[in-house]
Amino acid sequence: MTDTKSETREFQAEVKQLLDIVIHSLYTERDIFLRELVSNAADALEKFRHQQLLEGDVFDKDAPLEIAISFDDKEQTLTITDSGIGMTREELEQNLGTIAHSGSKNFFSELAEAVKKDVNLIGQFGVGFYAAFMVAKKVRVQSRSYRPDAEGYEWASEGSGSYTLSPCPGLHRGTKIIIELNDDSHDYASEYEIKRIIKQYSNFVPFPIKVGGEKVNTVQALWAKSKSDIKDEEYNEFYKFISNAMDEPLAKLHFSADAPLAIKALLFVPTENFETLGFGRMDPGVSLYCQKILIEQNSANILPEWLRFVKGVVDSEDLPLNISRQALQDNALVAKLNKIITSRFLKHLAELADKEPETYEKIWDTFGIFLKEGATSDFLHRDAIAKLLRFESSKSEPGQKISLAEYVQRMAEDQKEIYYVNGPSRQAIEGGPYLEAFRKNDIEVIYTMEPIDDFVFSHLGEFDSKKLVSADRADIDLPEASETDKAEEADKEPELEAAVADSLLKWMKEILGDKVKDVVASKRLVDSPAIIVNPDGVFTSSMERILKATNQEHQISSKNMEINTQHGLIKGLADMRTKDEEFARSIVEQIYDNAMIQAGLLIEPRSMVERNYKILERALQ
Ligand code: ADP
Ligand code: MG
Repeated sequence: MTDTKSETREFQAEVKQLLDIVIHSLYTERDIFLRELVSNAADALEKFRHQQLLEGDVFDKDAPLEIAISFDDKEQTLTITDSGIGMTREELEQNLGTIAHSGSKNFFSELAEAVKKDVNLIGQFGVGFYAAFMVAKKVRVQSRSYRPDAEGYEWASEGSGSYTLSPCPGLHRGTKIIIELNDDSHDYASEYEIKRIIKQYSNFVPFPIKVGGEKVNTVQALWAKSKSDIKDEEYNEFYKFISNAMDEPLAKLHFSADAPLAIKALLFVPTENFETLGFGRMDPGVSLYCQKILIEQNSANILPEWLRFVKGVVDSEDLPLNISRQALQDNALVAKLNKIITSRFLKHLAELADKEPETYEKIWDTFGIFLKEGATSDFLHRDAIAKLLRFESSKSEPGQKISLAEYVQRMAEDQKEIYYVNGPSRQAIEGGPYLEAFRKNDIEVIYTMEPIDDFVFSHLGEFDSKKLVSADRADIDLPEASETDKAEEADKEPELEAAVADSLLKWMKEILGDKVKDVVASKRLVDSPAIIVNPDGVFTSSMERILKATNQEHQISSKNMEINTQHGLIKGLADMRTKDEEFARSIVEQIYDNAMIQAGLLIEPRSMVERNYKILERALQ
């Protein structure tokens, strides 16, 4: 049934807010409205091409696939026409009256903040269409869906609160956007201006963009050309085009292969990590093509999720052209493509780290967190990722990072394992008790300073057939001390007598009860009286902190406390135990709390502070 009346509808509240921001945004940024509308037209054409392959029966079958831009400088209008997929009445209402993700937590507030700061980002949030209202006093969208039985409709709005929908018979397939320019935007009704903006932002749109009947863009699939025919500027321009970005890529990988699959791929590493800038989780950035026809934009299938920061294009002519989005997900060929391209990309990063260490360092500093995510979640590429990891260590300069390979290369012959220790900063780690034994034995230790790091090492398990061992493990087995060390030790103060020490440790365990699994004499401590270690060797203290924060403490088993029986405090404690057992008990509890703090673990602060004051009071008596 044909609907002949015009209807007025309210925008969703978020759209109203967004329009308000857009309308008041800076003049200098306004050019991008055309980029957004052209990009929508190109998307619509790509979708049409794919849908035609899937369905065959389409409206206006022979209309050429192109975008036309025209203007009228008397009426002050600008018109952008495409022969793409078009929109039905419901689609107009859905797509141009609401914001797709606005329901999900924080999405809209992040979007609003970002767009306020930089209108340029509007496309990245999937709301580019509304940029038209920067230059328009009224926008009309006339659209006819490709579906044979659909009807044409016009959507119209002045950007303030509501829009109208009315039937619009006699349209060709696709969408025509008519912008009535506002008084500040008359400049845009000029052939020169339009061409300039198309050249700047839309040169790589894969359909002809015609201005006054003349094609103004390059129309080429850059990834399909041979490397030697492409200039650096072209790569950069292409990167900016596909990622809606203004920056220049940190790195690119352009490769083609014939076996086992025919692949042409062009991948980029951006300069900025929008996730850490607080913009929420990124969508995938690589699109999948078959013989230059877009199969899936920003495909979640072509690279693993942890590589979502990579932008680019993958084209494989081995894919069936008419494959549907659903079928991509469990297509064996796509899985194979994913594996090949991921391996190739990781190999490229490894080569880059070798040849251009400074570039790789930037990549690591910006996107290392994604590689760590991969190390904890992707078994298939685990070994390749392990080679790309970088950390500070006890033998690196502060701020400088080393690879696991460098560590292994420096290992002494009798060292069997790779050691790491977690702490909030280099200073905290170097001031804590965990490094003492390693320092004494001149053994390098990797510093893991991010919460995820210990999970990474625990997932890797080993590197180059050497076990990765946390320095807070109870059963750590360091090489024998050298002769000079032994001589030094002989000079040192004597240990407690064995029987006294034995009884002291048992008594300490009694006091601490379930808080520790055991209290044992330490072979590793030099300057500190006590240290908390993990007897199970599964979770490090850093991991424990995270498990607790996420209510998974049931997974954690209790700790051992190791005691340095040569330490003055411990000897004093043995003595005090015989004189004032009550006071000696509080010392034991305080030693435990101190060791827990050094392990970065939680204690009960109130009773600790009270006890600590009592001890201080007595010290001053
Ligand atoms: P995005 O393009 O990121 O999805 P936009 O705000 O630019 O966000 O567009 C919103 C939606 O409106 C698009 O996803 C698309 O479904 C629809 N749309 C916009 N312009 C066109 C067009 N020219 N042809 C068909 N559909 C369009
Ligand atoms: Mg868009």
